[in-house]
Amino acid sequence: MSNSSHYDDVVIGSGMAGLTIASLLAAAGRRVAVLEAHDTPGGYAHTFRMGKYRFCAQVHYIFGCGEGEPIHRLLTRLGLEETITFERLNPEGFDQIVVAGERHRIPTGFSKFRDRLIHRYPDAARPLHKYFRIIRSLREELAALPSPIGLKDIATAPFRFPNILRYRTWTLQRLYESLDMPPRVQAILAGQSGDYLLPPNEVSLLLHVALVSNYDRGAYYPTNHFSSLVEALANAVKQAPGSAVFLNTTVTEIETNGTRVQGVRTSDGKRFTARRYISNADPTQTLALATGIDVPHREKRRFTYEYSSSNFTLYLGVRDLDLREYGFGNHNVWHYPHEDINAMYQVQGKANDLSNPWLFLSTPTLHSGRPGLAPEGHQILEVATSCSYEYFSELKRKDRKAYTRAKVQTRDRILSIIEKNYVPNLRNHLAMKVAGTPTTNEFYVRAPRGNAYGSNLTPANMFPRVSNQSPLANLWMVNASAGYPSVGGTVGAGIRLYEQLEGDAI
Ligand SMILES: Cc1cc2nc3c(=O)[nH]c(=O)nc-3n(C[C@H](O)[C@H](O)[C@H](O)COP(=O)(O)OP(=O)(O)OC[C@H]3O[C@@H](n4cnc5c(N)ncnc54)[C@H](O)[C@@H]3O)c2cc1C
Repeated sequence: MSNSSHYDDVVIGSGMAGLTIASLLAAAGRRVAVLEAHDTPGGYAHTFRMGKYRFCAQVHYIFGCGEGEPIHRLLTRLGLEETITFERLNPEGFDQIVVAGERHRIPTGFSKFRDRLIHRYPDAARPLHKYFRIIRSLREELAALPSPIGLKDIATAPFRFPNILRYRTWTLQRLYESLDMPPRVQAILAGQSGDYLLPPNEVSLLLHVALVSNYDRGAYYPTNHFSSLVEALANAVKQAPGSAVFLNTTVTEIETNGTRVQGVRTSDGKRFTARRYISNADPTQTLALATGIDVPHREKRRFTYEYSSSNFTLYLGVRDLDLREYGFGNHNVWHYPHEDINAMYQVQGKANDLSNPWLFLSTPTLHSGRPGLAPEGHQILEVATSCSYEYFSELKRKDRKAYTRAKVQTRDRILSIIEKNYVPNLRNHLAMKVAGTPTTNEFYVRAPRGNAYGSNLTPANMFPRVSNQSPLANLWMVNASAGYPSVGGTVGAGIRLYEQLEGDAI
């Protein structure tokens, strides 16, 4: 019996970008094979079970679900817009930033946010007015930016996109300094920095604007939790005639004749051939799987980039306690022990010191009341922060016991911080505690260096991002690096590639 199967399209990986392009192609009548290394689809958006609890691996809240936005457009095309619905996080404070014990609620609407800040920090009125003016004009120009950018767009950029041109190499810190923004207000405005895992002195100003603008349009959580979204997209592939999702199927080789892919081989000894191949795996990792090509020097440079930071995550099952009584709810809480976010990233990521980390705290069971994540009456609290990949991976490689000790110490330190600042006696109510490190990301999602957001979101990596073209004529890339990170960003990348390949606007 032959171990080779032929499809119209082979998609390597079932992260959000992979599932987006695969489901759209399947809906258009193409016979699609999705090959996924893990035992469950979704990449970072997958859900795993631990005892009586189910945790989404890394996604907590998303943007892009409003009418006309990428996730809504995808679901509408698949006829799923009434099946997969979303809850809005609290528009009066969907992200709540706690700096040295002071809580600030980020509302929907830049004007409201600006006025709240000016009310609290009247001396910062001038820089705040200027900051929001610049953010707004960049938001408008970014929304009008075509993709891909053509020669005509470049020629007319000085008139159409003057602010993008002016600020494209800026970091957020450079803007703060040019405006003389007070340090406390700097910290609040960068309070969502974990959404790009970079401090103000490294993050691209344009990326910061894109992030805060997207969430300003609406912060969402799926009514039936993230697994419903992932399953719906995977089912759209599985149920299409001639298409399939193969789990536990790692692509180990991409065979080429030097210019075209001729087939892919998988860990279970199978071979898949197709007219087109699309990789949702990291672009550099994808090229490393290709045999028989000599990648030109110029192309090699394009596929050499610095990865974004990695993270430590804590998944907690909470019983006999209502987190709503402790400042949690239909919002996220960002904890910063002091106002110097640049120093925090430096100490945590570069000096491996997690003794006083910033923390992101999210409560999925309070974002939607639907069952499915925890036993009745129990709640879930997920906590994340930035950390060094080297530190954890070296420990794991050299001394497994030391790795486990470091993991437990970090977990306990984080629990102490939460007990001190938010929920006294939290430990007495924990029915489940699971910790993940950068090597967990690497193992389950095959993210190089456990990177959270693809290539690092510094000005150098923003324009251009790694393009979805590859050196092989019938291979395309689509993921957080070949596109933009986040669920909204990767769904957008999947839609763009579909439109490009099929000439069919979503
Ligand atoms: C801590 C953290 C918090 C985050 N929070 C949010 C959030 O709240 N909201 C949000 O919108 N985004 C969030 N993100 C970002 C978001 O999860 C990602 O940007 C997005 O899910 C990445 O999707 P992707 O399509 O690039 O694929 P990935 O999620 O990277 O998945 C790639 C898939 O390809 C598979 N694969 C790789 N190589 C192979 C191979 N050789 N063979 C077969 N399969 C392979 C992997 O197993 C994996 O399933 C967070 C990320 C992290 C780490």
